[in-house]
Amino acid sequence: MFRGILIEKDEQGYRAALKEIDESLLPEGDVIVDVLYSTLNYKDGLAITGKGPVVRQFPMVPGIDLVGVVSHSDTDKFVVGDRVLLNGFGVGEVHCGGLAQMARLKSDWLIPLPKAFSPRQAMAIGTAGYTAMLCVMALEKNGVAPDKGDILVTGANGGVGSLAVAILAKLGYQVVASTGRAEEAAYLHKLGAKEVIDRQSLSEPGRPLAKERWAGAVDSVGSHTLANICASTKYGGTVAACGLAQGMDLPATVMPFILRGVTLAGVDSVMRPLADRETAWLRLADIIDPELFNDIATEMTLEGVIQGANDLMAGHIRGRIVVKVS
Ligand code: NDP
Repeated sequence: MFRGILIEKDEQGYRAALKEIDESLLPEGDVIVDVLYSTLNYKDGLAITGKGPVVRQFPMVPGIDLVGVVSHSDTDKFVVGDRVLLNGFGVGEVHCGGLAQMARLKSDWLIPLPKAFSPRQAMAIGTAGYTAMLCVMALEKNGVAPDKGDILVTGANGGVGSLAVAILAKLGYQVVASTGRAEEAAYLHKLGAKEVIDRQSLSEPGRPLAKERWAGAVDSVGSHTLANICASTKYGGTVAACGLAQGMDLPATVMPFILRGVTLAGVDSVMRPLADRETAWLRLADIIDPELFNDIATEMTLEGVIQGANDLMAGHIRGRIVVKVS
């Protein structure tokens, strides 16, 4: 038996609770990991609160991220004692995840914990930070260099947003942070934003084309915000879209794409090939200043996770939540 968050759905309804879990509940895998740290991402918030259809198999241990120590291995890729990192691959959705003391996983999903990070630091970055890095890599791939002009980051106080601001600023970009929480402007400036704008200015229905403003953008919000960003992106610019915090709709026109050559680059972290993951984590190891973790991460234990998920969904969490599991 081990402790973890368990999501159940039956005639009594949808519910999540901290429980003693029997090892026999864990799905098949060739590696068993003693989990040290996990995190709460937006997707975990949806899963735990039941606000979104993230979990597709019950009962389920949520947690799309984890860092832990291999305690049993049926593969020659990892040996007992190795420290490993996992992001996504359907873990916490269709395969029991990181918000429990033990996980049985497929070795194909694991990468060695980068030497630059402690388990806690890697989870302070988590899927949110790794996705932010993938978004920045998408801008770079499309030629959005720091001298091209301002880069917009939406949902800036959230996990993806905070890390995107910090990464872009460290790489020398001029970052404009969009947020609904003006009271957190000092935090965003500390992460490196040169300007903070009210998200309201982007979230209402807008025109098909607007004044050219952004050389590029990292958007974790979707909906009208993403449509307005595309409409105000400069000729040849790129918008990296990874999220739907405002909504999954995209009420846009083709005008920015056919008249200004704007690129809308979709970013998925869940099924990303291992090589891209390793590149992204190596880049993060180069870019992220360890001091950043003091500002960006709040720590809790498994006892705090249900409340933490509700706070995350209510938009009350700044930056990242790290969960100390063992
Ligand atoms: P967080 O909850 O940490 O951050 C979301 C932020 O979005 C909030 O902090 C808030 O920022 C902003 N926001 C919330 N509601 C609204 C709204 N109605 N309108 C506009 N802005 C809003 O989540 P994460 O950073 O973990 O994830 C962000 C998004 O990215 C989610 O949709 C998530 O599913 C997605 N995602 C996608 C991944 C992928 O692989 N494609 C991977 C990781 C995340 P503020 O207070 O500053 O306005």
